[in-house]
Amino acid sequence: MEKTDIKSLYNKELEELFVSLGEKPFHARQAFHWLHVKHAASFAQMTDISNKLKEKLTDTCRIAVLKQEKVQCSKADGTRKYLFGLGDGNMVESVFMRYRHGNSVCISSQAGCRMGCRFCASALGGLVRNLTAGEMLEQVYRIQEDTGERVSHVVVMGTGEPLDNYENFLRFVRLLSDDKGANISQRNITASTCGIVPKIRRLAEEKLQITLALSLHAPSQEKRLSLMPVAKKYGLLEVLDACDAYFAKTGRRITFEYSLMGGMNDSTEDARQLAALLKGKNCHVNLIPINPVDERDYTQPSPQRVSNFKNNLEKYGINVTIRREMGRDIDGACGQLRKRYLN
Ligand code: SAH
Repeated sequence: MEKTDIKSLYNKELEELFVSLGEKPFHARQAFHWLHVKHAASFAQMTDISNKLKEKLTDTCRIAVLKQEKVQCSKADGTRKYLFGLGDGNMVESVFMRYRHGNSVCISSQAGCRMGCRFCASALGGLVRNLTAGEMLEQVYRIQEDTGERVSHVVVMGTGEPLDNYENFLRFVRLLSDDKGANISQRNITASTCGIVPKIRRLAEEKLQITLALSLHAPSQEKRLSLMPVAKKYGLLEVLDACDAYFAKTGRRITFEYSLMGGMNDSTEDARQLAALLKGKNCHVNLIPINPVDERDYTQPSPQRVSNFKNNLEKYGINVTIRREMGRDIDGACGQLRKRYLN
């Protein structure tokens, strides 16, 4: 029989498990604390749990623990890029960033990705598998252990499409924000999606307070389709409608991510079209100069062109920021560390 992945269980499910093992529910609360606050890597570390119970747990459950394979530290801004080994030998990468408002961790939601965006390094090898909620949490926990610093913000913007791993992603959000666990406010959790419409609509119903970021990257269906195959299934207007529904239901303002690629989507006309598309929406646009990926031929526009694009959007009353690049000196584009390691 396959062992239960104990780090992916809600507090209540853990209590039920303990009751089914003939134990008192309060021991489950102790175990939850060991897993999600003290980041125990084994049952042996749980010192206030009896040996008999430890044996029972060892027989029936497993604890997902990630192995730190590699870490690259930026001298410029303190950014740390981690490569973690999963139990089955797969690898994922995560990033630790220091901001004025606190420490932020960017996690992966899948090993690989099947969305196939043309500018993205993570898409190159396809999807290997979904991560469990425990494996997503572990990225945050291991980084906290390694740095000895509290993490206040989490962004799900590493490898993978969170809404393509919906159930595990949801579990991750609820566990991460559990006040008996890491207790990271949902308002400080952001998930980025390429735009899987039915899942955006479903997420709007989950009564969460997280921020949804939509990878827009183009001001028209035609251009978006040439960059993101997912647009074939879910058209631009359909995605924007789903974002409106998300805002209406949750009151959470949507962030639109727009990676600027020289000569592709960075003209004055692109800015005008984008502004028209987003007119009247309570939203925020995040401009990200593309991270060049070896296998792809998109290039970064000049800083001048980036700031022109921003000014143009502002002229139309759009709320916009240029994302500060972090850790540029430690590796190139998103997903490249993992890829380099796998090659
Ligand atoms: N699958 C999700 C989240 C992962 S990617 C999504 O599509 O949103 C996180 C963000 O990085 C997305 O906006 C994605 O489009 C962007 N991205 C991917 N490759 C990039 C690159 N080479 N340069 C800049 N941004 C990139």
